[in-house]
Amino acid sequence: MKQYDLIIAGAGASGLMAALSASREGLKVLLLEKMEKAGRKVRITGKGRCNITNTKPWNEFSEHIYPKSNFFKPAFRSFSNSDTLNLFEEIGLEVSVERGERAYPASGKAADVVTALTDEILRNRAEIKYLSKVTGFTTENNLITSVSWEESGVARTSVAKALIIATGGLSYPLTGSDGDGYKIAAQAGHSVSQCLPSLTALMPVKFDTALSGLLLKNVAVKLFVGKDLVQEEFGDTEFTSNGLEGPLGLRISRKAVRALSSGNKVFVEIDLKPALTEDQIIARIKREFSADGKIRLNDLLVKLLPKQLIIPFGNSSGLLQSKILSLQFTGEIYKLADLLKCWRLEITGFTSFERCVITAGGINLDEILPKTMASRIIPNLFFAGEVIDLDGDTGGYNLQIAFSTGHLAGRSAAYLIKKSSSNS
Ligand SMILES: Cc1cc2nc3c(=O)[nH]c(=O)nc-3n(C[C@H](O)[C@H](O)[C@H](O)COP(=O)(O)OP(=O)(O)OC[C@H]3O[C@@H](n4cnc5c(N)ncnc54)[C@H](O)[C@@H]3O)c2cc1C
Repeated sequence: MKQYDLIIAGAGASGLMAALSASREGLKVLLLEKMEKAGRKVRITGKGRCNITNTKPWNEFSEHIYPKSNFFKPAFRSFSNSDTLNLFEEIGLEVSVERGERAYPASGKAADVVTALTDEILRNRAEIKYLSKVTGFTTENNLITSVSWEESGVARTSVAKALIIATGGLSYPLTGSDGDGYKIAAQAGHSVSQCLPSLTALMPVKFDTALSGLLLKNVAVKLFVGKDLVQEEFGDTEFTSNGLEGPLGLRISRKAVRALSSGNKVFVEIDLKPALTEDQIIARIKREFSADGKIRLNDLLVKLLPKQLIIPFGNSSGLLQSKILSLQFTGEIYKLADLLKCWRLEITGFTSFERCVITAGGINLDEILPKTMASRIIPNLFFAGEVIDLDGDTGGYNLQIAFSTGHLAGRSAAYLIKKSSSNS
């Protein structure tokens, strides 16, 4: 039976980083990946460009981490966003920082991130095995002693002094992350907090597919759960065939999905004219009336909204496009101004794990030591990445979570192993 210091389950963003930090500490590392190559998910991140991190300082960065940014603080301190930039530069991957403090490989190719990491891991003499799925482990005196895995379906066992579970969450299972880590962790007695899709498309009731492809720039979006306003965002949003997406749609999806899953009514209000007050909109509408004080609603909407939005907006707001508005009936003008300020859509569904960006939920934070990423149940078991109940907004936050927790788990495993061998 082959013996290793450390076995890592999963060669995604966090597992690769864990393998890199542990092998640099001199550990004999075996990285097991169940897919045919490393980082299948990393390769599709950032629309193939891979937004590797966000360079905001911690006080701003932490506002984008859920459910408890404090849990993530020690990991971020041990390997911050600037450490990510420095590491990639050091291993030969040029990085450029773009709008919104988002960092990408200068090549624009996500695959280059995976290549840079795997090359460096191999240079540090770690072993990587593909089509190798971790299935469990054995313990003696509450410590992991060996790890069971299957190589192309053939059962194997390897002796290990520590195990890192870096198997990802449930999002985009085609890339390999389909919840294995939760089952392996359950063997140790770990619990999993409710997992829900996040950074995902929200489906309005009676969704008009004519909206698909419409990008709304500089709008304000409010999320209501029942009557309560729970989130307000400003920026760009987009409709796709899956419903409301784009930066704002994704950002509000965490709370929206949670509310829908608890059986609550969820509404989105889009302010289509955030730069104008209702009075300014009314004045603007009145200017469009012809000399006889009349205008057809459709002709008015053409002046106020993107073409693609006119019919869906009219239909969902119960407006008759052919209606003739008159300056004498100001009630209709007020109503239209009100609708432009808060176009209300009821959200009744969302895109599930097959195509969401991240899993909200995972291994319970109370069961992991934030300073080491070690299990509070089995001291030589560690966790890294999306498998943990930690997630972030779009903008490079999730990969930084994976890199920081991966680095810390790898380094902590090395520290533990060196300490126990110096004691024995
Ligand atoms: C479409 C998309 C775009 C994204 N874009 C960005 C972005 O630009 N910036 C950003 O910060 N985040 C982005 N993310 C999120 C980011 O990809 C994840 O946060 C990150 O990949 C999580 O890393 P991880 O190592 O925890 O999991 P993963 O990267 O999912 O890796 C887990 C690995 O473990 C393997 N595995 C699973 N079970 C086993 C097992 N039993 N044995 C062995 N191996 C196993 C899997 O095959 C997989 O390779 C995006 C996600 C998606 C889906």
